This record gives sequence, structure tokens and C-alpha cells, in this order.
Amino acid sequence: MSLFERAEARIPGGVNSPVRAFGSVGGQPFFTARARGAYLYDTDNKRYTDYVQSWGAVILGHAHPAAVDAIQQAASLGTSYGTPTEGEVELAELICGRVRSIEKVRLVSSGTEAAMTAVRLARGATGRSKVIKLAGCYHGHLDSLLVAAGSGLATLGLPGSAGITEGTVADTIACPYNDVLAIEEAFALHGSDIAALLVEPIAANMGLVPPQDGYLEALRAICSRHGALLIFDEVITGFRVARAGAQGLFGIVPDLTIFGKVVGGGLPLAGLGGRADIMDHLAPLGSVYQAGTLSGNPLATAAGIATLKLLDDSAYERLVDLATHLAEGLSDVFVNAGVQANVTRSATLVGVFFGGAVSDYESAKQADHARYAKFFHGLLERGVFFAPSGYETLFCGLAHTHEVIEETIAAAAATAANL
Ligand SMILES: *Cc1c(COP(=O)(O)O)cnc(C)c1O
Repeated sequence: MSLFERAEARIPGGVNSPVRAFGSVGGQPFFTARARGAYLYDTDNKRYTDYVQSWGAVILGHAHPAAVDAIQQAASLGTSYGTPTEGEVELAELICGRVRSIEKVRLVSSGTEAAMTAVRLARGATGRSKVIKLAGCYHGHLDSLLVAAGSGLATLGLPGSAGITEGTVADTIACPYNDVLAIEEAFALHGSDIAALLVEPIAANMGLVPPQDGYLEALRAICSRHGALLIFDEVITGFRVARAGAQGLFGIVPDLTIFGKVVGGGLPLAGLGGRADIMDHLAPLGSVYQAGTLSGNPLATAAGIATLKLLDDSAYERLVDLATHLAEGLSDVFVNAGVQANVTRSATLVGVFFGGAVSDYESAKQADHARYAKFFHGLLERGVFFAPSGYETLFCGLAHTHEVIEETIAAAAATAANL
């Protein structure tokens, strides 16, 4: 029996997160045995240049010595205590020191948990019930936000999810991305009931869709005018696109921010932060309950601290350079091959759509996802691992080099010749 057959027998679909199953591109996923720097190695020891980076959780490169040392040292002192630790304080200080809008932060174990807490906190702090989410943005798999949620759901072609009652999503208003008028209309109808608006400041779960000029500024102004909280979901963009995330890049101050992925240095850690007067509504100070046995786990905080300490301005300059090289190289490849494509880039993030311009979920769905699947498999055969769905984003890490990117562009050229 193959490893995948064994997996399918005992794990639904053979995977512990649906996007890993290659559902959108067909075929079977490879099993990773180890990883180092820019590369993954499967159980047959085949090497892949990795642009998935654990879906954005890895940024230093795989098995970076600083992260590995920090984790090993922490593990030797015990793996979990259920009491406060110095590491939690240090990581909270690092986060607040980098992101101006964050005065206090609560650490949790996944982005889903952080988003769930953010919605509850926004409702508790404002006394209002409704939330606006944007079609194609993904905030984890909490019930109330699994409406037009992009990414894994787009890949599966599900409208939302079974098992979620109408009552649960009755207070969720879905609006298109990059459409200020739709937001104005939602607030005109429900303004005094809207607790919060959640947005991925750079949408990265419907492919990569950057915000149009002035869009985030407009969201900030509308939320302020109506007394609703603006929540930035920076689970992907936080500490990945710039030192202070997308909010630093665009100069917008949200009320609350959700973190995950990079902040845990490849271990399960996420967070929710914002203005102290809002954050203090959380238990034990306030009446909004939230808790977690493994929250602020010492291994995860050690990995997060080691990672953030290496992410200085020059690291982001390097990542922007690499992403620009990749995006421009891919664009040229498609032009030369006569393949109509739209390579998007925002700071360190890159996306590939086959077809015309994309500005929201509807246009992202119009892209040729069958062609993306063909492109994906051509690259995979050539030892390059792009995201196994056209609704995802490509990540370079600090272990990538311009030489590695050149090799990837050559593989893309060879693949594009047969698209
Ligand atoms: C991955 C992701 C989440 C969910 O984080 P998990 O740790 O997978 O629960 C939330 N928001 C965004 C923008 C994400 O990309």
C-alpha cells in the first residue's frame, strides 16, 4: 500500500487540511520527509523548490538554524507549563514594538482561533451583532465567516460549508472586495448594527488580489464614521510583506489585527492585537471569554521570537527583490509563450492568474483554473512546488536566491511552451 492509500484509509481524504489534497489541480500530493532552506524533499528524496512555505508560515527558510536552536533549547526546558512564561511577554513586546496599532496582544494557537476571538471581541466591545466580510477573503474556518470564503472552499467549489446553520451566518454580510460602494450600501442599511468589518488588506486567498488605491483608506473612514471596528486579517501579510505588515506598508491604523503563520516561526501560534481599551474586554479583565491550554506555548514563542528578530528592514528588501524577480520573470515567460496571464505582485507576495485582470472574487473565478492546474503539474514534474490551487499565493523565503528564482523561471518557460 502506498503512503497515500494508507493515509486515505485512516484520515478523511488522506490529509489534515483540505488544500493539501491537490483537489483543485488533480493527482496525489507528495509526502514531505524533510526540508532545508528553499527546498522540500519527498519520501523518494525528490527535491522541490518550495513556493508554498507551509502556506506562508515559514519565512527564514526551512530548518533555519536560529529557529531550530530556539525550539531545541525551549524543548529541553519543558514543552508546556500552563503558567505564564517570559517568552510570551517578549513576543508580545516584539509585536507591539513593530506594529503601531497594537497596544496589547493575546496569543492563541491558530489563525482560525484568532479570527473567532476577534469577532467575539468586536461584538462584545461594541454591543453590536453584525459583521461584514469580503467575498474571497478567508479568515479560518469559524462558522460565522465561512461565507464566500475563497481558497480551500473555492478549490472545493463549495458555496460555504455543510453543517453551518442559517442562524449562524444571519449576522454575516458578504460584500465584494475592492468595492467601496457595496460597503457604503451595507452601512446605509445596517450601520448601527455592524460591529466590525474584516478584511485581508492584501487579499491572498483568492489568488493574490492587491487592494486598489484608496480602498483601505475608504474602509477605515467608513468604519470610523459608523463606530464599527476595522479588523485587519494579517495572518498572511503580518511580518511577511513588511516590518509592520500591510498596515505599515499602506499606513492604515486598524482597530484590531489578526496574526498567524510567520509570527509562530513555523509552529502553531497566532495572535490578536489592537487598542488596549478594546483588548481589555477580554477575560480575565473583561466579559468576553477566551482561553487556550496551549496558548503562548513556549516552543512556539521561542520560534516566533527567533524569527521576528531576524526580520529586519533588509530582510524585507531582499524578499521584495526576490518576489519582483519572480513576478517579472513569469510575466515574460507568458508573454514569450503567447499565454494570456496576469501575474500580480504586492510587496513580497506573488500570484498567477491565467486570463484577464482580477480585482475581486468574481473575476478570480473567471481565471482559467484548468490551465493553472496544467502549469502546476508541469512545474511539479520539474521539481518546483507552486501552490496546488489557482486561489492561492506564492511565497519566496529568505533562503531563496536569485539563482533559484532563475531556475524556476526556466522551468516555467519549459512548462509554458506546452500550455
Ligand atoms: C491561513 C489563514 C487563516 C487561518 O489560519 P489557520 O492557522 O490556518 O487557522 C486566517 N486568515 C488568513 C488570511 C489566512 O491566510
